[in-house]
Amino acid sequence: MSSSTASRARAAPRAADLVAKVVRPEIRALDPYHVAKAEGMVKLDAMENPHPVPGPLHARMEAALHRVAVNRYPDGSADAARAALRHAIGIPPGLEIMLGNGSDELIQIVASALASPGAAMLAPDPSFVMYRRSALLAGMRFVGVALTSDFGLDRAAMLSAIERERPALVFIAYPNNPTGNLFARDDVEAILNAAPGLVVVDEAYYAFAEASFLPDLGRRPNLLVIRTVSKVGMAGLRLGYAVGAQEWMAELEKVRPPYNVNALTQAAAVELLRDTGWIEEQAASIRAERSRVVSALRRLPDTTVFATQTNFVLVRVRNADTLFEGLKARRILVKNVNGWHPLLANCLRITIGTPEENERLLAACNELCR
Ligand code: PMP
Repeated sequence: MSSSTASRARAAPRAADLVAKVVRPEIRALDPYHVAKAEGMVKLDAMENPHPVPGPLHARMEAALHRVAVNRYPDGSADAARAALRHAIGIPPGLEIMLGNGSDELIQIVASALASPGAAMLAPDPSFVMYRRSALLAGMRFVGVALTSDFGLDRAAMLSAIERERPALVFIAYPNNPTGNLFARDDVEAILNAAPGLVVVDEAYYAFAEASFLPDLGRRPNLLVIRTVSKVGMAGLRLGYAVGAQEWMAELEKVRPPYNVNALTQAAAVELLRDTGWIEEQAASIRAERSRVVSALRRLPDTTVFATQTNFVLVRVRNADTLFEGLKARRILVKNVNGWHPLLANCLRITIGTPEENERLLAACNELCR
């Protein structure tokens, strides 16, 4: 090495120094979103629908995917997929629909559009972790308002936080993740009445709940409803949708990355949403399994099983870490939410699986919780 090469090498800044100089400290302090490896395991950690797409429908999807020209960009406005969703969920005229690469992306898009210096995002806590994360990424101030001890909305605390913080954006998961319960409708209405900005009602689990704010959209100008196909059998597509007034959508559309929903997803969605009977049937069978699993878990000693209107159930056990590890050793993967929030102490979040998977879970719990 010549001496000039050596001095250039010495002078070159190390990547770590550059990172420290230019990457925002709050990003450097963040951990990447962790997705657990589940190879060969009974996968009850991510609220997926355990049933495959019915055979004939899968064949139709395959034929449609075969026709996709992957050398071309997708339809940038995803017209056919949006029309299929509009039809499938019966969106009234006058409301607009926007698609996202999962509803995760829609959460980020809304946060980016509403972020301005000092602007706050408010959400109950504990709730879906991507709200806080998206606030951080967008540079919004996140204000979490603790739920009550039975996981209800603390209406007085929410209203006083709204008064104090004047949030540009409020997120309400309806039903809530990771607790699984559906908040009282009149609490959400009180928030909608008081909020000075946009309220997003996130209905990721709508198929397992008996309530929705979709019918309220026409008379609530500050409401946006977001949903996903992830929990109803199509998590691999990465497709979420937001429904709301055209005025909101026109602004969000400026933040949405071009071609955010790929051509294969668009084509698959058009086929899979042509008929929604299979979605309803699978959701009904998951709801039936949910009742069975909840009853069985309630018979375990020292276990509290919380009310759920989702495809998962939150349980509090003697020692969540030990039970989580015991289940893992038996090749059953659930979500250990112990430590996420004081209200979630010793809690595990368990997705409802197939009857066989649920049997394995219950047998293992019976053995480990004795
Ligand atoms: N909202 C809530 C409340 C969720 O629980 C989830 C998934 N865990 C999402 C949104 C994101 O769903 P996706 O990005 O798969 O559409």
